[in-house]
Amino acid sequence: MATKQLTKEGLELKDIVELADAHSHIDLITNPIVIKDAIEYGVKTIITDGVDTRSNMECLRISDNVNIFAAIGIDPEHCMAMKDDEIEFNVSLIKENSKKIVAVGEIGLDYKLATTAEAREKQKQVFDIMLDTALDLDLPVSVHSRESFADVFGMVRDKGMKKVHFHFFDGDEAQAKEVAESGYYISVPPYKSQKRAKALAVMPSGRIMGETDSPIVGSSPKSVENSVMFIAGIKKMDYANAARLTVENTKAFFNIRYKSNQLSGLGRRQ
Ligand SMILES: [Zn+2]
Repeated sequence: MATKQLTKEGLELKDIVELADAHSHIDLITNPIVIKDAIEYGVKTIITDGVDTRSNMECLRISDNVNIFAAIGIDPEHCMAMKDDEIEFNVSLIKENSKKIVAVGEIGLDYKLATTAEAREKQKQVFDIMLDTALDLDLPVSVHSRESFADVFGMVRDKGMKKVHFHFFDGDEAQAKEVAESGYYISVPPYKSQKRAKALAVMPSGRIMGETDSPIVGSSPKSVENSVMFIAGIKKMDYANAARLTVENTKAFFNIRYKSNQLSGLGRRQ
């Protein structure tokens, strides 16, 4: 091959580059050393997504808007048993923290979990509320879609959402093209798959991010290096450039520079 594929192992220590994890649940990582270690390793931007009341509060608490940024929302799993007053409480939480958070997420539809028409209706109802809240506040959304791509895509497009991130993208090539044509973003987990390779191949480089979904999928945000390696291979880039690209894309999608600056000097929450 003419293109030089620089592996991560081939990098000099001085070349170790910055990384960004576009989707995680680090509120579930009980050992704080794991997070500190990931940041020291180079994962300077970590998005932690809330899924319910408890995790939303926790993500807000641990985000410092320096390295850790919170997205809060109600995901399709936890929305199913949630009563109206708790949904309203979370909408208020998003509104009150709209300057601090970087997105409304994790939200979406999961038809593997919701198998009845009633359960799917409930997911759609909550997803609709979450999308309206994001629209009102001009915030990006991080969406979860499993066996529900057509409905998720239809809802975000019909509402005219501008900034949509399909996390853990598992769509096919045609779906990736629809995502790309709408100017939306995807992120890929630290695992390779043939289907995802085809989807990545048709996605413009400027719309791709890496993620870990840690600690559920990757054990730490550090595993985002494997997402970056995967992206590098498909896009025929070396590791350092792929890392740089995903960091730029993540910062652009979540308005990281603006969110970091906005709170500096105002006193960061610990
Ligand atoms: Zn997740």
